[in-house]
Amino acid sequence: MARKSVLENCDILIVGGGMAGTGATFEARHWGRDLKIVCVEKANIDRSGAVAQGLYAINCYMGMQWGENQPEDHVRYARNDLMGLVREDLGYDMARHVDSAVHMFDEWGLPMMRNKETGRYLREGKWQIMIHGESYKPIVAEAAKKSADKIYNRIMITHLLMDETKENRVGGAVGFNMRTGDYHVFRAKTVIVAAGGASHIFKPRAVGEGMGRTWYAPWSNGSAYALPIAVGAKMTQMENRIVLCRFKDGYGPVGAYFLHLKTYTQNANGENYEKKWYEKTKELVGEYIDHHPTPTCLRNHAFIQEVMAGGGPIHMVTKEAFQDPHLETVGWENFLGMTVGQAVVWASQNIDPKYTNPELTTSEPYVMGSHATCSGAWVSGPEDISPPEYFWGYNRMMTVEGLFGAGDTVGGSAHKFSSGSFTEGRLAAKAAVKYIQEEKANDIKVSDKQCEDFKKIIFKPLDNYTVGRNEITGGTVSPSYILPIQGLQRLQKIMDEYVGGITYNYMTNENTLKKGLELLDWLQEDLENVGAEDYHQLMRAWELKHRTLTSQCVTEHTLFRQETRWPGYYYRGDYMKLDDENWHCLTLSRRDPKTGKFTMEKAPVYHIVDEKEKKEAS
Ligand SMILES: Cc1cc2nc3c(=O)[nH]c(=O)nc-3n(C[C@H](O)[C@H](O)[C@H](O)COP(=O)(O)OP(=O)(O)OC[C@H]3O[C@@H](n4cnc5c(N)ncnc54)[C@H](O)[C@@H]3O)c2cc1C
Repeated sequence: MARKSVLENCDILIVGGGMAGTGATFEARHWGRDLKIVCVEKANIDRSGAVAQGLYAINCYMGMQWGENQPEDHVRYARNDLMGLVREDLGYDMARHVDSAVHMFDEWGLPMMRNKETGRYLREGKWQIMIHGESYKPIVAEAAKKSADKIYNRIMITHLLMDETKENRVGGAVGFNMRTGDYHVFRAKTVIVAAGGASHIFKPRAVGEGMGRTWYAPWSNGSAYALPIAVGAKMTQMENRIVLCRFKDGYGPVGAYFLHLKTYTQNANGENYEKKWYEKTKELVGEYIDHHPTPTCLRNHAFIQEVMAGGGPIHMVTKEAFQDPHLETVGWENFLGMTVGQAVVWASQNIDPKYTNPELTTSEPYVMGSHATCSGAWVSGPEDISPPEYFWGYNRMMTVEGLFGAGDTVGGSAHKFSSGSFTEGRLAAKAAVKYIQEEKANDIKVSDKQCEDFKKIIFKPLDNYTVGRNEITGGTVSPSYILPIQGLQRLQKIMDEYVGGITYNYMTNENTLKKGLELLDWLQEDLENVGAEDYHQLMRAWELKHRTLTSQCVTEHTLFRQETRWPGYYYRGDYMKLDDENWHCLTLSRRDPKTGKFTMEKAPVYHIVDEKEKKEAS
């Protein structure tokens, strides 16, 4: 069938119109008045990404204007939470700019809650401020729409294009429209990948009737990692997956409950179980357990140990706080602006938190760079603070020239959240404009042949299905193709059983990881035969391929780091202790685009913030 190709040439191409993508699109216009700026979004930019349903808090705001926090404080906080391993240059750079982004949200009409006594933003915790955030996403989308030359909705980007005149330089991206089936080619001078994190690579707790119910957005399919990995960009800390403590079955967030409502957790006997596990945890991680606040993974660790020891279920004690009508309202509104499903689950289970303490759970693992972990691309930091190993010319540029990242895409800089991801998008876009203005993107050549080759690859799942469907009389099992859902469940089972998922309480080791890698290789081979019956399934097929490549990278990293750095996120049973002597470092991977083989190396961790202060003091 002749398929329509739609060609677009632009200066800056932004892949993904979520928080980071809208920030990048907005800022690109500020610095690049005469540049052609295009943003491509898989869903619809008005309601896409992890913030689609809204949020109840902006989790990253310094409050520098009121002397509440300084960027250095945030770096120390993130470093502590991540058991010492973050890119402090990136975190500092984000933190020093994040307040200005939040002030713009305020100006654009995002309803911010105010402290009645001080007039300042109402704090939920040290870093969080409370919002009426149901319309958070449409508000930032409007800023992007006014800034871009064009926003393309419903187009999934599947591959990056590479320059044919200069090695290791990006030249654009290709994808397809999942409503019309048109093939889209975007030739671009720079590309900013802002395509969100990765859910559904590990088997979720909710299967069968609850399939699709996950904590992170189910449409976050790892494109943010797969696109750069496929062209040989280096990745960092991909082993640093996150496991969340959330309300059971609905994954409702607990932040506002802990911080604002001052609720707390207890085991089935009404005991404070965290204390019980102190000594044993200290044997594994040493003095890290004495840090304040207790790192998130260590709190998970106590939860998991308690449940394994038979002390579950773990409950959130809501009955006390909910006696206060104001706190009761806040407790419910917290879900209505962000996770309506949790309220529905409670209704279905006859749980009123005023009278019943709801159950908590630890989720399946997710991979992302913007929340409380820092998996993602290895990018250059800012010129003024990054040491030489962290700096190669343009802020947030990956190890592929002209290819930038922001938000979940970028590794090493956790705790950015919505506001920090938007901010990082702005930083990446400013650098991308500079890259073009300094003529680093001249004479890029992307041949028609490169584009035509991708066209055949992208639509192959439709052909697989059309032919293979004739070989069976009915049903979904074919000798010639596998359907995306079948491939997804196979991927999730491999990751769950071999790479540290829920089935074995997040446990893995060298033997299981090697077996996992072998099985992922076979899966990759079989994905050549994935079949898609329509354009929507074609999207599912490509989501699966991106998830699988991301998973391979996660598994390679997990195998490389021979220690258990974050108990509560995962355990290397063969190296159960944290090992600062050998592993106080960042891990880096690169997949050779020609052979598909990964190579691993270590990169130093620099504690820039306190070094700076030590120098100033001397
Ligand atoms: C349940 C939950 C609760 C959270 N709570 C808070 C909170 O209370 N406060 C807070 O500040 N932050 C919170 N966060 C974090 C915040 O939402 C993220 O940090 C932020 O959205 C990350 O921004 P991003 O742009 O990297 O990803 P996203 O905002 O997810 O955007 C990624 C975009 O890329 C698009 N995309 C993906 N793949 C492709 C592709 N191949 N081609 C084209 N487009 C693609 C997606 O459709 C999406 O629009 C929460 C997140 C979740 C999931």
